[in-house]
Amino acid sequence: MSTGLTGSCQCGAITLTVAVPPLLTYACFCNSCQKRTGSAFSMGLIVPTEALEVAGELTSWSRQSDKGTTNTRYSCADCGNIIYGVDDSGMGLAKLQAGLLEDTSEVEPEVYLFARSKQPWVSLPHNARPFDTQPKDPMEMLAAAQAYREAQ
Ligand SMILES: [Zn+2]
Ligand SMILES: [Zn+2]
Repeated sequence: MSTGLTGSCQCGAITLTVAVPPLLTYACFCNSCQKRTGSAFSMGLIVPTEALEVAGELTSWSRQSDKGTTNTRYSCADCGNIIYGVDDSGMGLAKLQAGLLEDTSEVEPEVYLFARSKQPWVSLPHNARPFDTQPKDPMEMLAAAQAYREAQ
């Protein structure tokens, strides 16, 4: 995907830019993502937190993840759209909601997470190698994204 991605929330109070290409794009079928999106899965980009610039007023909410980390996510204080999430693992990575981008045509998931709770009607591309849950080590996700791109 290209550099210099831009995005905004539904009401426009939050604008964002990503200075570098995302490390990977994922779809997640976990129950938490189904609840917070009200849909069958979420789509996100993993980007270095320092490359993500967000302008506008955010609210935050934190929860304990299955991995034992504290996950905090940030939403627009006006319209409530979820913007991005971080954890306290010290990896310096943020999960940015893919649907916020001005141009979502380039967004294609490379990594599929929590396939164990995927709805049966969702079919995955032939070259997808979905994870049953989520690997503890983000490097495993990077490797999976690389393999996905190479199998195109
Ligand atoms: Zn908003
Ligand atoms: Zn999820």
